[in-house]
Amino acid sequence: MIISDDEPKNKQAIKQARTENLRPETVEYDTSFETNIRPKTFDTYIGQEALKNTLKISIEASKMRNVTLDHLLFYGPPGLGKTTLAGVIANETGVPIKITSAPALERPRDIIGILMSLKEGEILFIDEIHRLNKIAEEILYPAMEDFFIDINTGKSQTVKSMRVPIKKFTLIGATTKAGALSGPLRDRFGIVHRLEFYTDSELAKIIKRSAGILNINIDDEGALKIATSSRATPRIANRLIKRCADWAIVKGEGVVTADIVTSALEALNIDSSGLDNTDRHLLEIMIKNYSGGPVGIQTLAVALGEDIRTIEDVYEPYLLQKGFIQRTSQGRKVTPLAYKHLGLIAPNAQMSLF
Ligand code: ADP
Repeated sequence: MIISDDEPKNKQAIKQARTENLRPETVEYDTSFETNIRPKTFDTYIGQEALKNTLKISIEASKMRNVTLDHLLFYGPPGLGKTTLAGVIANETGVPIKITSAPALERPRDIIGILMSLKEGEILFIDEIHRLNKIAEEILYPAMEDFFIDINTGKSQTVKSMRVPIKKFTLIGATTKAGALSGPLRDRFGIVHRLEFYTDSELAKIIKRSAGILNINIDDEGALKIATSSRATPRIANRLIKRCADWAIVKGEGVVTADIVTSALEALNIDSSGLDNTDRHLLEIMIKNYSGGPVGIQTLAVALGEDIRTIEDVYEPYLLQKGFIQRTSQGRKVTPLAYKHLGLIAPNAQMSLF
């Protein structure tokens, strides 16, 4: 791995990596903005039961064998709790955690710096890990496998390789796209797990817990109503609680009830299935401009004025999960359920069969 083409610069990089324990883009787990509502234990981390059980066993086994936990890869749409779960694991294992994301690890010295700063057993969480560049990935391979990094110094003809040991650590990678990870990187994770969308009752529990912490008065119906409109996603549920609480204070009597939620969501243009303007616009474009599809993602992105990644990562997973669109080899197709949801009639009988 060449991290610099001349020695002095390279030495500087190593020195900087040693002294600069934490780069500014790297944050400790305890992020202040939502410190309180982020669960820190398996008991308060609601849902994802299968994954939690797997993790509990792995944590127990690693404690019994006195070894660091295997590297873990979590994938799934944004806001489902990947970062939070990494924090829970750190807390339950009793180890510190550093949180960063792939775009913050652009230069070799960024990843080298962070790897060299890790304490024994520490967890390194890298968000959006599919966006790591090739060089950073190659630095990670020996670090993940044998806990050292290879640093090559000097110019091409006089390259010297230096093997620098690092502390044993656990890498937790998170991605919205497991398929975008290179094979060699994916293979180095001992546990690869998809986070599932949440059920309404799981979300209602999350909402009631967050409301309690935020001192928001909410009744059961209000919590359930927010749950059904939160795209099966805790981050959205937590955001909606705050908007509904504002509404309850200004327009109601301070309690978040089902009626308050209904009018707050109406004002936010969020419908009963949790779809917002962009979701509906996306479905309408497919129906009006492309007779319901199939339509390719690129065409859709241009028509919608959104980038492909946002459509794929943010909008599509939930529309697929709701059964409003279908993926076919020719592109995306709107389902009869979506027509019904939008108050439209599906074009032909054949469509309404599937
Ligand atoms: P991701 O990393 O997958 O994008 P986060 O871990 O940042 O998602 O979670 C988003 C928010 O949702 C967090 O603030 C957290 O409070 C909440 N959250 C996520 N998962 C859960 C859960 N299982 N139980 C309770 N709250 C959760």
